[in-house]
Order: sequence, then structure tokens, then C-alpha cells
Amino acid sequence: MTKVRTVLGDVSPASLGRTLTHEHLLYSYTGAEVDHRCAFDLAAATERISTEVADAARDFGFTTLVDLTPAEVGRHPQLMADVARRSKVNIVGTTGFFPQHLGLPHWWRLQSIDEFKDFFVRDISEGMVYASTKTHIKAGIIKIATGMDSVNPRPAPIGPSGKRVGEFEERAIRGAGRAQKALGCCVNTHTDPMDYSVGNPGLDQLDLLEDEGADPTKVIIGHAFISASTEQIEAICDRGASVQVDHMGIPWRHGSVDELDAKLAHHMCELADAGYLDRMTISYDRWFFNPRGGATELNPQLLNENVPMGYLYTDFLPRLARLGFHAEDLERMLIDNPRRLLAF
Ligand SMILES: [Zn+2]
Repeated sequence: MTKVRTVLGDVSPASLGRTLTHEHLLYSYTGAEVDHRCAFDLAAATERISTEVADAARDFGFTTLVDLTPAEVGRHPQLMADVARRSKVNIVGTTGFFPQHLGLPHWWRLQSIDEFKDFFVRDISEGMVYASTKTHIKAGIIKIATGMDSVNPRPAPIGPSGKRVGEFEERAIRGAGRAQKALGCCVNTHTDPMDYSVGNPGLDQLDLLEDEGADPTKVIIGHAFISASTEQIEAICDRGASVQVDHMGIPWRHGSVDELDAKLAHHMCELADAGYLDRMTISYDRWFFNPRGGATELNPQLLNENVPMGYLYTDFLPRLARLGFHAEDLERMLIDNPRRLLAF
């Protein structure tokens, strides 16, 4: 029987309800864990995040959240489990890594494809490790990532395989492909919007995953709506994969919220008209808690914490409705599609 693996155990796919497929309970760039200014009180953070998550479930029915924080970006299994217990919201934890320009620390650059595969499989079947200590809290999804950082956005360089995928990322992605083949779980990805100006990073990721035997119908290509053309997004769907609408209310790589939201809504309508309604999931990519807000003197921009949890209904759905997109179709994206994708 298929299940969805949450940090508190396996649940029936039918029980998920409205599901956001890419959020972050705690988000903290690799290296911040040794910065004095980023030290935080875990009990207070757990309390604050639990309240926000519970409020989002009560007010807007978001009863399942995928915490898509990669292993090296502050992923905190115990915090996830405590938030799930207190808020009574399903939390799905993640195994996987950031792009090599943002993460994939040195230790992981020394690993083979099969060592990546084994790591992903153990995180999902045995439990995640935190600060060199094993837990019994299991991940339920794999994340892979490509692209550059956001401080100076530019396309990623061409890697060894001729794609805009770095050497270490490629090993992680191939390992994820092997782990997906072994387990049947979902893979959700980070693509960089800049890479759509010079190619299709979603297809590059699918090429590598499928080369290792992964099932494209269990893959969600993330951030595809930020700057891709409708044709590029449809090309991803034509491969059998799904795409994630994200960042509504968070003007990542755009001049204004209005500009980005208009683009997202336009693409959603086009995809739905083309028959791909069952291939879209939706999520904010919100940071519930980031020690020191994630800001530095050189990178003061803070976007992901500021979107209210109800924005999807208060602001984005009215915009969709004006374009003729139905509320019940948004519900299919929030309930039916994640249920199918997250089950294994
Ligand atoms: Zn994210």
C-alpha cells in the first residue's frame, strides 16, 4: 500500500489535505551554524514556528507542508518533528542538497554516485542525521539542485556533461535518480531562473535523473515559472514530470510582486488550457524562521519571510479568477496532485 512519509511516521495519501510542496521551517545558509549572530533558542523557535504553522492550518487549511530544506541548509529533524506534533500538521522532511555554488560542502564533493544514493536511501528508510547524531526521524522526499547563487544572478557555467550542471551536483543528481528508482519516492528540484535564458535546466535535470532509471512522473521541477516561457514549461510536462508554481507574493528575480504574480498566473492558465492541470503543484517557498533573518551587509535583501500564509487566497486567487482560472482547479493543485506525487 502506498504511503506518504512524514517526520512523525507514514500516513495515508488520502489524509494529506491542502499541501504546500516547498516551504522551509528553518532556513539557514551553510556556515551560519557557527556564526555568533545566528545562534538561536531552539525552544523559542519551535514555539514560534509551531504557532504559525497551526494558524495556517486553522485559517487556510494547509494541513501538509513539505519542508524542502536541503541537509546542509539548517535542516533540523527534531524541530520538524516537534512542530508537526504541536501543530498537528503533516511535515514531510527532505534529503538532498543545494546547488554546489550555494552548498554541497567539501565532504560531499568527495562522494561517489552510489554514496549519494546510499545517503538518500538511509535518510528516508532509517532516519536523518543531525550534527553527527542519528535520529529516527525520516525524510520523505529527495531534493536536487542546480544553478548559481542569487547575489549576482547569472547562468551557471557548463559542467563536465555539457549541461549547466556542476561536477558535484551531477553526482548528487545521479545518486538521487538511483535512490528514486530504488524507493519510488518523489524528487523535487531547485532550478535557477537565469538558466532558462540559455537552456532548459528542468530538462537537464530530468536527463540525468532518467539516465539513472528515475521515474519522471515522480519528479517536480521547482522554480520553473519564475522566468521560463510557457513552451519551456510544457516541454518539462511533456517528459511526464510535474512543475511547481512558487514565489507568489515573493518577488524573487522580479522588480515587483505584481510583475511576478502576473507571470505566474498567466503561465498557470496556459498550462491548464494545454491540459496540464494535473501536473502543477503550488507553494510559497517561505522561510518560517531564519536566524538573523538571513540578511548580511552585502546581501540585505529579505523576501521569503514576508509573505503572509493566506496570500494564496487573499491576493493570488482573485488574480487567477480574473483570468478565468477556477478555485476548484487550484484545489486540485493543492490536494490531488501533491497526494499523487508524494505517495510511494
Ligand atoms: Zn526553497
